[in-house]
Amino acid sequence: MTNDIREVIIIGGGPAGYTASLYAARANLNPLTIEGFGAGGQLMITSDVENYPGFRDGILGPELMQTMRAQAERFGAELVADDVTRVDFSEHPLKVYVGDEEHRARSVIVATGATARQLGLESEVSLQGRGVSYCAVCDAAFFRAKNVVVVGGGDSAMEEATFLAKFATRVTLVHRRDEFRASPIMTDRARAKDNIDFVTNAVVSDVLGTDHGQVKGVTLTDTVTGETREMEADGLFVAIGHDPTTAVFSGILDMDEAGYLLTRDGSTETNVAGVFAAGDVVDHVYRQAVTAAGMGCMAALDAERWLAHSEDPPEKAATPA
Ligand code: NAP
Repeated sequence: MTNDIREVIIIGGGPAGYTASLYAARANLNPLTIEGFGAGGQLMITSDVENYPGFRDGILGPELMQTMRAQAERFGAELVADDVTRVDFSEHPLKVYVGDEEHRARSVIVATGATARQLGLESEVSLQGRGVSYCAVCDAAFFRAKNVVVVGGGDSAMEEATFLAKFATRVTLVHRRDEFRASPIMTDRARAKDNIDFVTNAVVSDVLGTDHGQVKGVTLTDTVTGETREMEADGLFVAIGHDPTTAVFSGILDMDEAGYLLTRDGSTETNVAGVFAAGDVVDHVYRQAVTAAGMGCMAALDAERWLAHSEDPPEKAATPA
């Protein structure tokens, strides 16, 4: 256990966590950021980021994350690449554990993000950022006048296919059943596009790459007959849902049925006083690096105000061990 009681501990090393770290550090809150083994978040599996403001010519996802991290460090944020294994928010000071190691803080910002569900193929992993994408808004512009495959049968898949249809020559939506989970309105919108084809009762069972490591097609397996066939494509968009990283907060922080943390309207406050949440762990609508960064800023400002106004915090009276 460390003797310090931190003003703020930030959990998560993506755009929300790093931005919260930057703001907290510049506010002299001496933050500890437990950024996780997967530091950098979802941008680590993207290549060019062209929609983060301030980078006129775009920036590589991992480089953007490194830059955000370094900027937080420059102002004194302490960052550790550990995964939080448990939290105890039942009393103040708040406790955050990495294995047996206990960290205590007056406030905590949760910015653990979400992960896009993957198909679970080796070829999918090796071609991530090389034609395999999990975000049409981020990457559609790279597929202008190209052919792409979208996997999924929910609202995300319909939305991504409809968005991609504005750029790509042809979009093929592949779904494992013959009924869509998506709402009729989203399905109809996709069906109304001339350049979207639907392949049902099929899964992408392999992603095919060129010698230069770019997607050149997919193998489709029919879920009824088991037959396989190859299809040429320049890109594969996997849109089979996201999972927020909230297992360690289960039963402690209020969340919706999908596991996203709930915050009070117009703020980043959770149901526990002194605990704030920001980024994709809260937001299942926008899911952009820039919106996550914005929420990280909000959480740091909310934490700063809360620290300034919380009366006679009980941890002040506690004797450090
Ligand atoms: P979802 O509703 O959970 O749909 C996931 C889809 O992916 C399902 O069709 C599922 O197939 C398929 N799938 C899951 N694992 C698969 C795998 N391993 N291989 C192949 N297919 C797989 O997720 P979502 O579409 O991301 O939507 C999540 C929530 O956000 C929903 O409540 C949705 O309404 C909402 N949303 C709303 C909007 C909007 O209104 N603008 C846009 C996006 C999302 P099965 O159907 O066979 O299970």
